[in-house]
Amino acid sequence: MTLDNLRRSCRGSVIAAGDPQFREAAHANLWNRLIPDRAPDVVVRAADEDDVVAAVTFARANGLKVVVRGGGHNWCQPTLRSGGLLIDLQDLTGFVSIDAAQRRAVIRPIVSNRDIQRALNPLGLAFPTGHCPQVKASGYFLGGGMAWNPTVWGLGAENLEAIELVTAQGALIRASQTENPDFFWAARGAGPGFFGVVTRYHLKLHALPRAIHGSTHYYRLAEAPAVGRWLGAIAREVSPSVELSQFLVQAPPA
Ligand SMILES: Cc1cc2nc3c(=O)[nH]c(=O)nc-3n(C[C@H](O)[C@H](O)[C@H](O)COP(=O)(O)OP(=O)(O)OC[C@H]3O[C@@H](n4cnc5c(N)ncnc54)[C@H](O)[C@@H]3O)c2cc1C
Repeated sequence: MTLDNLRRSCRGSVIAAGDPQFREAAHANLWNRLIPDRAPDVVVRAADEDDVVAAVTFARANGLKVVVRGGGHNWCQPTLRSGGLLIDLQDLTGFVSIDAAQRRAVIRPIVSNRDIQRALNPLGLAFPTGHCPQVKASGYFLGGGMAWNPTVWGLGAENLEAIELVTAQGALIRASQTENPDFFWAARGAGPGFFGVVTRYHLKLHALPRAIHGSTHYYRLAEAPAVGRWLGAIAREVSPSVELSQFLVQAPPA
C-alpha cells in the first residue's frame, strides 16, 4: 500500500513530512509546549475507526512503528517519536450512547472530564473522571485513572466494562472480562505502552452524589514535612470517602 492509497482510503487527513501542514499536524494538541525535536514520518488524523484500521494496515505493510495521540496531555510527550506513523485521534470525540436505566455509557476517546460530567449529571449520573476538567478520557484510562471519589467508586479504569480497539494486526475488536480479556487487562494500566488503539470506552456509571465538597489549604514549604506527617497520621482515621492529597506547588499570588 502506498501513501496515495492511504490518502484515498482515509476520510481524515494524511500528512507526510515535507507537506506544508506537517509541523502543525505533528504537534497538534500537545499540552506541554516544551516540544522535543523529534517527529514522525506520517501523521494520520483519523476521522473514524476505519481510518485507524487503514493507518495500522499501512504502517504494517511499510514496516513503520505506530504511535497514537489521544488528548495530548501526557507531560513526557510519548506521542512524539522519531519516524514512524502517528495516528491522531482528536476527531474521535463525543458520546456514542447513554443508557441511564442500566447506568452505562459508551464514549469515544476524546471527551473531556468536564464534558463527561456535563452529559451525565443532569441525568442524575456521574463517573469517576480525572480531576482536571480539560483532560480527555483517552490516555487517562490507560494510566489507570486517578479519579474523583476514588475510595468509593474506584479508579477510572476499574469502572470500564469494555473497550473497543484496533490491534497491531489491524483488526477492530472488543475486549472485556470475557472477550479478549488479555487486551482488557493490559489496557487498564499499561499507559503509554499499550499495544492497540482504543477507539471506544464502555463506562459503568454511578448515581450522582448529592454533594462533593473540596477544600485547599496552603502551608509554607518549610512546613511540608510536618504537614505530611500529620496527613499520614489522620489518613487512617478519616472516612474512606475523603480523598487526601498533598502537593508541592508554586505559592498563589499574595
Ligand atoms: C493538567 C493535567 C491534569 C491531569 N489530571 C489527571 C487526573 O486527575 N487523573 C489522572 O489519572 N491523570 C491526570 N493527568 C494525567 C493524564 O491522564 C495522562 O497524562 C494521560 O496520559 C493523558 O492522556 P492523553 O490521551 O491526553 O495523552 P497523550 O499524550 O495523547 O497520550 C498519552 C499516552 O497514551 C497513549 N494513548 C492515548 N490515547 C490512546 C488510545 N486511545 N489508544 C492507545 N493509546 C493511547 C499515547 O500513545 C501516549 O503514549 C493529568 C494531566 C494533566 C496535564
